[in-house]
Amino acid sequence: MSLGKTIVQFTPQSFSCHFKKFLESNYIHTSYDIVLKDTIDSPQIRACVRGRAYRNLNLDPNRLKYPMKRTGKRGEGRFTRITWEEAVDTITNELTRVKKEFGPASRFSPIGGPWGSISPNGLAKRLLSLDGGYLDTYNDYSTAQQDTITMYTYGSVMIGNSQEDILNSKLIILWGFNSAETIMGSLCNYYLRKAKDLGIKIIVIDPRHTDTVVAFADQWIAPLPTTDAAFADAVSYVIITENLHDKDFLDRCCIGFDEEHMLDEIPPNNSYKNYCLGISDGIPKTPEWAERITKVPAAIIRTFARELAASKPANIVLGWGPQRHSNGEQQARGTMLLAALTGNVGISGGGTSGAAYLSRHKIPDIPIPTNPFPGKIPAFLWTDAITRGTEMGIADGVIGVDRLPSSIKLILCLGSGNLLNQHSDCNKTAKILQDETKVEFIVVSDNFMTPSAKFADILLPADNFFERDNIKRAWVYGDWVAYSNKLMEPPYECRNEYDWLTEVAERLGLKEEFTQGKTMEGWCKWITDEIRSEHPDFPSFEDFKKQGIYRWKHDKPYVAFEKEVKDPLKYPFPTPSGKIELFSKRLFDMNRPEEIPAIPKYVPAWEGPEDPLKNKYPLQCISWHHRFRTHSIHDNNSWLNEAQQHVLWMNPSDAKKRSLNNMDRVKVFNGRGSLIIPVKITKRIMPGVVGIPHGAWYSPDKDGVDQRGCINTLTSQRPTYLAHGNPQHTNLVEVVKL
Ligand code: SF4
Repeated sequence: MSLGKTIVQFTPQSFSCHFKKFLESNYIHTSYDIVLKDTIDSPQIRACVRGRAYRNLNLDPNRLKYPMKRTGKRGEGRFTRITWEEAVDTITNELTRVKKEFGPASRFSPIGGPWGSISPNGLAKRLLSLDGGYLDTYNDYSTAQQDTITMYTYGSVMIGNSQEDILNSKLIILWGFNSAETIMGSLCNYYLRKAKDLGIKIIVIDPRHTDTVVAFADQWIAPLPTTDAAFADAVSYVIITENLHDKDFLDRCCIGFDEEHMLDEIPPNNSYKNYCLGISDGIPKTPEWAERITKVPAAIIRTFARELAASKPANIVLGWGPQRHSNGEQQARGTMLLAALTGNVGISGGGTSGAAYLSRHKIPDIPIPTNPFPGKIPAFLWTDAITRGTEMGIADGVIGVDRLPSSIKLILCLGSGNLLNQHSDCNKTAKILQDETKVEFIVVSDNFMTPSAKFADILLPADNFFERDNIKRAWVYGDWVAYSNKLMEPPYECRNEYDWLTEVAERLGLKEEFTQGKTMEGWCKWITDEIRSEHPDFPSFEDFKKQGIYRWKHDKPYVAFEKEVKDPLKYPFPTPSGKIELFSKRLFDMNRPEEIPAIPKYVPAWEGPEDPLKNKYPLQCISWHHRFRTHSIHDNNSWLNEAQQHVLWMNPSDAKKRSLNNMDRVKVFNGRGSLIIPVKITKRIMPGVVGIPHGAWYSPDKDGVDQRGCINTLTSQRPTYLAHGNPQHTNLVEVVKL
């Protein structure tokens, strides 16, 4: 094979791994890892199978090729070709009309889409800000519940030690953490493998016997979904009653553990210890109590508790799945509390979450000017802001204003699957978007005719990450930053969002402010210069672009809260009390103790195992991030579809009750919708639970039955209590043979 250009690239998905490609006659032949010195002690980062298979999508004949406008009903997917000039004129006119009729807060751009320092969503917000404003969001679909409750507990989301620090642990607990499939960091599996080789014990807690269990676990513990906090409560009960807790740590660094460490103004009997021992509610949280809820045998809970207390330092690595439940805030809080109880915070080898954000270096994004409209909604509640926007206020999580002045009337959805596929309850979302009296104008920019693209009024063919320059940090906690070089020109009439938004800006008289005279590459130089202003050793723009990757080196792993734990008086935690808040006065003052307790405690989930709805829909349906899809990207990738089939997982005992055989086609349904999918019968998922990996493209037939197995046909738009986040793993369903 003769080789053309060799160039450095990163993948477009949520985070960024790094690899090289060879270009010849507009076809990317292969990809392989690169670049900095690759040794056992200091390995390079490697792209996963998704990143490597992206080249199969690049020149897929089904790519969108031309701008189009809708001809059929919204959502039918019928379009006719138009010119770029007509598309840009229409978008400009609608932005102006909607702002005039409904105000700037009626204009919206959902989160999601290709990441990087220059993201389409960031570009849309930049233009909307300059043009008078838009409705912004806070938090996200990944970690809303965990981030929110972590802020109440620690005062920061930067609570994890750097990943290589697991090699200093005596015990690693992967709690709903499935790196073998999801890839939680480019080198995460490398460090887990190394930890295993060093003989460090690894326990995986997950209702599913994941590939992470297969690859790394010494022990697998399977609680029912939504019951992790009950499991944690019983672990605490054993540790406290057997006097195994770290009293010095709790005394110096925490409030709320026992009655002696409460704020003066709080009435007695509100401490965590009194809850665990049953003094406050008459129910001791014994392992037998937890066994009835979680289905984990009491003996296993006892052994786990004793082992955790005896194995210091221990790292409790929290995944993001357990918190994406209807009681997700308590799921996360109960499990991270165990690190404080055992004094595993602020020490090397300890830590409460390797999946938390950890950024030792700031990489700036293209700047978004201050939004003239100050209001924000939780990211998950945008469909509510369409149907009842003017009713939404502080109780719905609105911040910045008391009440929204308008509902959403215009959407710029630039590469985001959240317009339909990745948002909860696709059937409900589709109905909302079909109603043209609600949202009056929708622009979608995408590579393919995705479920979201079908709902566009103006549909634009986007470029992809091979066809533009960009800069990206590799994963949220990586010490790597990559320059993604443009490899080829976009095909047909595909264009980068920056190009056509610049033309819209020009028609609005905002071109100079929007571009500041810069091309995409010019913005990459600006970002590089910003990095260099803080890190003079960072390479020049020319060198960075050429070498494509930069790694910050550190003498030792990062340990979160090291100085706070060593000297809490001099370095208080960033909470109101200056300590880790096992009891939160801010939560106490909300006065909703059953839903939002002031201490970590098990709160039964709606649509959990204790919900009476279980009589009608007896199975808990969870989902996970598939090895072969990044959210909904790659569902149309023939290579990856060939490699692994999209199936429902079900335990043999549940299959027997329903007379199902392996690979039978089944219907999965609840009150929100139904889907068709083959069933894989396996002991690798616990009884009473079924699982569907997320990201399949919503494909309803004429009766509304999804034919491809999109989990969001079954999920709910009801938000969680505190974060107003997405409960997309909490679903009761029934399964029948077709
Ligand atoms: S781990 Fe994520 S960013 Fe890295 S190659 Fe895979 S999909 Fe791309």
